[in-house]
This record gives sequence, C-alpha cells and structure tokens, in this order.
Amino acid sequence: MNKCKLCEHNEANQTGSHIIPHFLIKSMVNEGGSKKRDKEVSFGINSIDADVFFGRSVTIDKIEETMGKPLTDDEIEGQSNHFTIDNMLCDSCEKKLAIVESYYSLNSENGKVDAKVSTIFWYSILWRISASKCSGLTMKNKDEKKIRKLLNSTLTLNIKTVKENSISNTSLFDSIAYKLLKVEELDEEDGLLFMAHPTLFTPYSLIINNFTIFFYTRLSYLKNISQNFFGFEKLYTKNSPVISESMFEECHIVDRQVFFKCVKKFADFKVKDFGDKLKIFINSTFRNLTGKNASPQLVQNSIHEIIYGESTMGERYGQIRMHRIIAKHIILEQQINFR
Ligand SMILES: [Zn+2]
Repeated sequence: MNKCKLCEHNEANQTGSHIIPHFLIKSMVNEGGSKKRDKEVSFGINSIDADVFFGRSVTIDKIEETMGKPLTDDEIEGQSNHFTIDNMLCDSCEKKLAIVESYYSLNSENGKVDAKVSTIFWYSILWRISASKCSGLTMKNKDEKKIRKLLNSTLTLNIKTVKENSISNTSLFDSIAYKLLKVEELDEEDGLLFMAHPTLFTPYSLIINNFTIFFYTRLSYLKNISQNFFGFEKLYTKNSPVISESMFEECHIVDRQVFFKCVKKFADFKVKDFGDKLKIFINSTFRNLTGKNASPQLVQNSIHEIIYGESTMGERYGQIRMHRIIAKHIILEQQINFR
C-alpha cells in the first residue's frame, strides 16, 4: 500500500476521505430533497485538466451544448462520491484533519475563528485538492511542500494543542496568507458551486459554494493585482481583509449579483475548455483504434458516460476508464449499424 501523502509515514489506509469537508458540500451533493437536484452538475478532470461543480442555472446553455442531454436520477446519485478519495491518507491524518474541520464548522458561524486555525483549515483543503490530483489545480512543488509542513507541524487530535503548535511554529505562517470572500445568501435556484482555477497561482483560487478563497503562498503576491480572473480580481483587491496577522478570521461580504457575473464567466470558460479537451481526447482515441473519424453521436455518448457514469473521483478521468468507455461505444455503434 502507498504511504499517506500527508505524514508520508503511515500506510494510506483511509478510504472515503473527503477532499472538501463534508459540512461545506453537504448542500451541494444533496442527500434526499430531489427538488433542486436537476439544478446541479458536476464533473472533474484529471488527465485533461479542469474541475468544476456548479448549478445548471449558472451556465445551462453551455452545458447542454457540451453534454447534449440532461442527467438521469442515477447519474446524479453517482455524483455523491465526487469529493471523496481512497488511499491518499492514513486514518490518523484523517482524524487530525477532522478536528480542525469540526472546530471551524462550529465557530465560523459566530465569526470567532482563531485566524491561525482558520489558515490551517483552508490550506488543508487546498493541499488535499492539489495532492489528490483530482482537479486541474495542482500547487507548485515548493508550495505543496510548505503547506504539508504547516499541516504536519500543527495538526493533532486536540484543538488546544493545534493552537499551541501554531503559536510555537509561528514562522510557518509568516509567508502565507489568504483572503476569504463570502456571498451571504445563495438561492436554491443559483445551484451550488465548486470551481478551482487550473493555472492561476498568484493567488491560487477556489470557489466552494458561497465562499471564494484566494491563497497567497508569498506575501508579495498580495500586491499583484494584474492577474485576470473573470472579474474576481476586482472583488478581492477591494477591501477584502488579509488573514495572516489578525487574531480572528475576517470575511469580506460580496454582492450576490456581482459575484454571479464573475461565476458565469468562469463557468462558461471551464465548460468550453473541458468539452474541447474531452472531444480531442475521444477523437484521437477513436482514430487510433479505427483509423476513421468519430461520429458526433459517439463523441456525445462517450462524453456523457465519462462524466456521469459510475466511478470514483480518482478513476473518473483515468486513461484506462476513458479508453474502456470509448471502446464500448465503438462496439455499440457497430452493432447498431449492422442491424
Ligand atoms: Zn498520515
């Protein structure tokens, strides 16, 4: 068995690890409540590079243009494992992460989250997203190492010692910061969101439901306002507090409409980018296997099954799985043609 990617010591025996803490996504991947389920769409990309989860209402035209047909109930059900991964962590690291998560989940509502613990919390999510290689967002090696060190030096099974460790290892926090933006009310109609930008790193940028988080792995990046990010850059340079030296986490409230304008631009970009890359992959696989061009129908059917068929997050966009699906659709198409 592989070693745990966090402690790099124990065996990675933990299954079903949440890459994004369950309390942040429980409303995204809804259990029960079928009413708003068809508002949600999620897909991730590993070998092709992108990851996105958003409400259909955000960008429904682009999605239907790419995916062709709406999801069945079973396909929506299959999305619930989208944010979990097997054998990346050991059970001990998993438990330590859970301590910080439950602290954050309990205290963030009343706005009294210790800023060092909140830094550990949000960076642990960025680290997991990067280390899992399940989305397009991968931190630079040096940054990933730095965050791993931060986590390993502070996480324990007791929140009091986590706080003590973060005080005695205060230098680990010197060169990192983040900004947290929040939209106060998300309507059910808005759908729910997860987006990670695949290529930006000054800052790394994540959207998880109503939170937008910008991660700065060098304080000099805080002065960098030129990075174009679908209009979000205008939100995060304006008045949003920097969490590095404050006592408690501070959150900048963002106007809903302005936020959704940016989200829509981001989502359209991601869907188009994602669809283009999948089509290229399917077409070239088809040509390698048959020497001919794939029919639009075969491309559409393959895309649909790749994105929504049953699979774990880690395997969904693996080459083996994608090749198997494409081969299956080639056989199906030939059976139809022979009839
Ligand atoms: Zn471990």
